[in-house]
Amino acid sequence: MRILLVEDDPMIGEAVSLALRDAAYAVDWVRDGVTAQQVMGDHEHQAILLDLGLPRRDGLEVLRRARRDGLALPVIVITARDGVEDRIQGLDLGADDYVLKPFDMKELLARLRAVVRRQGGHSAPVLDNGIVTLDPATRVATSADAQATLGAREFALLHALLLRPGRILARSELEGHIYGWNEEVESNAVDFLIHGIRRKLGSTVIRNVRGAGWMVDAPR
Ligand code: CA
Repeated sequence: MRILLVEDDPMIGEAVSLALRDAAYAVDWVRDGVTAQQVMGDHEHQAILLDLGLPRRDGLEVLRRARRDGLALPVIVITARDGVEDRIQGLDLGADDYVLKPFDMKELLARLRAVVRRQGGHSAPVLDNGIVTLDPATRVATSADAQATLGAREFALLHALLLRPGRILARSELEGHIYGWNEEVESNAVDFLIHGIRRKLGSTVIRNVRGAGWMVDAPR
């Protein structure tokens, strides 16, 4: 699960990034509204944590434009503003939830889980290529051999493959789905995750295409 964090305060940004990584999320952190808007178009993330008081473009304006352009991701607004008007405006503009600074990190994580779960329950379908199914809401994968709850990064990897059945994804593409921009990627991380998934679900769910990458079969 990869999260976009938009926050200009370095201390808050650092603390939230750390807490998210501790909870096994991949995090990309940007510090102004214009950059945030550009990055949102890349569709790399599963949820957005959005500060309102931002340089270059106000968070409410970022949100308004993103929803206008069809962004469907859950957005949690993080704000120091205690004015009820800002909260109402944020929700009207399409925020899914908000937290007021200073906030408890555990509360933020719980709210994040809740919006992602609601999103999963409503709109994220179970992925299925006829060999393995994956439920984004629960991270439960089912093959002919077994059923297992995947770890956060195992899920991210299998999810990336199942979104493109029949297509080979190179190591660097898979890493892009699993890690944030500034995260150190260990050279054998993808192999390690694939080994874990095969151990849980059977060795045939993911195919290695030597020298090119990995794939799951297209549905027949
Ligand atoms: Ca701010």
